[in-house]
Amino acid sequence: MQKPANTTKPIRSLEDALDRCQMLGMRISRQRRFILELLWQVKEHLSAREIYHRLNQQGKEIGHTSVYQNLEALFSNGIIECIEHCDGRLYGNNSDTHSHINCTDTNQILDLQVELPEDFIRQVEIQTGVKITSYTINFYGYCNQQSS
Ligand SMILES: [Zn+2]
Repeated sequence: MQKPANTTKPIRSLEDALDRCQMLGMRISRQRRFILELLWQVKEHLSAREIYHRLNQQGKEIGHTSVYQNLEALFSNGIIECIEHCDGRLYGNNSDTHSHINCTDTNQILDLQVELPEDFIRQVEIQTGVKITSYTINFYGYCNQQSS
């Protein structure tokens, strides 16, 4: 689901994200900045609806349409992440290829960098005939000790 980055410098902070916008000639409107600030602040994966509610709760006025349009523009330019979840699309600050841990207790999705062993990847390539360029793994589990 990840789009390849257009440039070499990775986005590691809110400032990097804003720099990337500028480099791509994207206007940094107040609303666009609000959304990026929120995503970098919470470091969670949020739906457009949640982003709308949280910003308005913070007194940052933004309309539904503006939230959707900005998220779409930021994602299609590789500045934020978009994942297809069973509840709909979720957006995150991390635009690099990464894996996720899905906690079934809290419904949280956490980012995780995983590196698979080289020989494992080579095995997959031999098995499938596909040259692997990136991968993302979904882990599922729970955080609380469950009593049986
Ligand atoms: Zn993520």
